[in-house]
Amino acid sequence: MIRLDGVTKRYPGQTDPAVDNLSLSVEDGEIVVLLGPSGCGKTTTLRLINRLIEPTEGRIFLNGEDVTQADPDELRRRIGYVIQQIGLFPHMTIEANVGLIPRALGWDKKRIQTRVEELLDLVGLEPAAYRRRYPKELSGGQQQRVGVARALAADPPAMLMDEPFGALDPITRERLQDAFLELQEQIGKTIVLVTHDLTEALKLGDRIAMLGQHAKLVQYDAPATILAE
Ligand code: ADP
Ligand code: ADP
Repeated sequence: MIRLDGVTKRYPGQTDPAVDNLSLSVEDGEIVVLLGPSGCGKTTTLRLINRLIEPTEGRIFLNGEDVTQADPDELRRRIGYVIQQIGLFPHMTIEANVGLIPRALGWDKKRIQTRVEELLDLVGLEPAAYRRRYPKELSGGQQQRVGVARALAADPPAMLMDEPFGALDPITRERLQDAFLELQEQIGKTIVLVTHDLTEALKLGDRIAMLGQHAKLVQYDAPATILAE
């Protein structure tokens, strides 16, 4: 479970807070979509949860533990992070990219290899065909799958996804959204996903947090409830 309790973030030199007194909780195994216009504080909210930045005020809990007290590196292994620009290392093979966190955790080679194969299978990439390739040899959709595999490497209970399908063409986007929903059926992670696309929010979210300026929570409901209004 992820819980934000009165969280405010002011960036240095900015008069308005990027996030102003946001309280929000996400249940285990649910996909919560943060939906709102550009600049309303969605990315800031994600970065607060995995402690890439610190809140100015308020507290954030992951499974009851105050993340502002946690070791940031250790925390980031427990929270997968997927971003739009994917961020695969171009000079590293797919295998090396997916195995990044397991290597940092000191797993032995055999265990890393097994895990990488399992993960590539999970995201629908044939391990034998892709492990030795480099990111630029893959399509955008395939690279995004690798990004998801990498985020899942250490089996984190939670995943933060920032416009994960935003950079893809419409057909690939739709295929990857479907694949993602199928994957979530199997893995049941606690997911916070950011988008500015209403259609995507309605399709993917168990609940949608509609945010206004400064991440003001305008409405927080299931898609069916939002559509009914
Ligand atoms: P969104 O993800 O909804 O587009 P962001 O969280 O990126 O919004 O940004 C929220 C607000 O905070 C915006 O006004 C943006 O300009 C500002 N902002 C974001 N990052 C920084 C930063 N590192 N320093 C100063 N201001 C920032
Ligand atoms: P995905 O299959 O992940 O949805 P795309 O829809 O972007 O990815 O790609 C469609 C298909 O085109 C892929 O399944 C793949 O077989 C092929 N493809 C696209 N680009 C490449 C590439 N650079 N190298 C190999 N195959 C590619």
